[in-house]
Amino acid sequence: MNILVTGGAGYIGSICSEVLLERGHRVIALDNLQEGHRAAVPPSAVFLEADLADRRELEKVFATQKIHAVMHFAGEALVAKSVREPSTFYAANVGCGVNLLDVMVRHGVDKLIFSSTAATYGEPEVVPIPEDHRQAPINPYGKSKLRFEQILADYHAYTGLKYVTVRYFNAAGASKERGENHRVETHLIPRVLDTALGHLPEMEIFGFDYPTPDGTCVRDFIHVLDIADSHVLALEEIDHVQGEAFNVGTTSGYSNLQVVEAAERITGRKVEHRLSARRPGDPAVLVASNEKLKRMLGWEPKHSSLEDIIQSAWDWRLKFPRGYPD
Ligand code: UDP
Repeated sequence: MNILVTGGAGYIGSICSEVLLERGHRVIALDNLQEGHRAAVPPSAVFLEADLADRRELEKVFATQKIHAVMHFAGEALVAKSVREPSTFYAANVGCGVNLLDVMVRHGVDKLIFSSTAATYGEPEVVPIPEDHRQAPINPYGKSKLRFEQILADYHAYTGLKYVTVRYFNAAGASKERGENHRVETHLIPRVLDTALGHLPEMEIFGFDYPTPDGTCVRDFIHVLDIADSHVLALEEIDHVQGEAFNVGTTSGYSNLQVVEAAERITGRKVEHRLSARRPGDPAVLVASNEKLKRMLGWEPKHSSLEDIIQSAWDWRLKFPRGYPD
């Protein structure tokens, strides 16, 4: 299949592209390179630099490429930024997404896998969180992703679009060649590893008074290769699972301090850290039920023990200590 991967130069989009290519698909990676890295795009993918905000550019992409399906990763994804700049999130995650849906409809492309998030749930009432849990996001990031989930249902009703929503918990880890390399890094595991490497003298752990065993937030870390796998399965089975939402997580939660300890063990280095104030918009606990993904798509996490996640991210950091060359 020819698959358009939006955000194909980003962390998850580039690794999903790698997996799609390995499975014999053709990948057209689209990215505006604001956050993405040209060097992250696998060499055998077609790369197009384009912005989803630009309807004319999008029209050109669809007019010149034969596209059978879309995996939509492009978007804004940082909780803290969303609290400061909600409009950026609604423009990118809702407005640009609608541009994409409209061009798909015009060109008769009717299959989409959408990258959504655990942040659409807000503070969980039940843990592990099932997909039919109440969705009450507590930050504009989660709200913007939830809006787009709802918009997808409308496009299905009015245009026949087939779609699957995949709600990630905390994406982490690396493939052999590709890893997490944001221009401004805010995520826990890369910051822990930057501190282990001495690129940061010390890091902060945000919040130590949450209602969790050690007072720090608890997250469900899922290896990016297992996320990629869930996308491939969802696309292969889209006729049977159209309109469904799937969590992708492990059912195991680790506190921020447990992550620091595991990283110290794996790297053999000290991770200097201090406990500081909560970061606005962070729920205390996010842990997925993955029963639905296993039952309906036969998915199994193969790379997502905390050890394997941190080890793979560390191996990638050692190989590319300053990230991608661009
Ligand atoms: N976190 C932290 N220090 C950092 C970066 C993140 O304590 O330098 C915490 C953050 O407050 C949250 C958890 O790590 O509790 C996961 O945050 P991340 O940004 O990695 O992912 P998110 O859960 O926001 O998607």
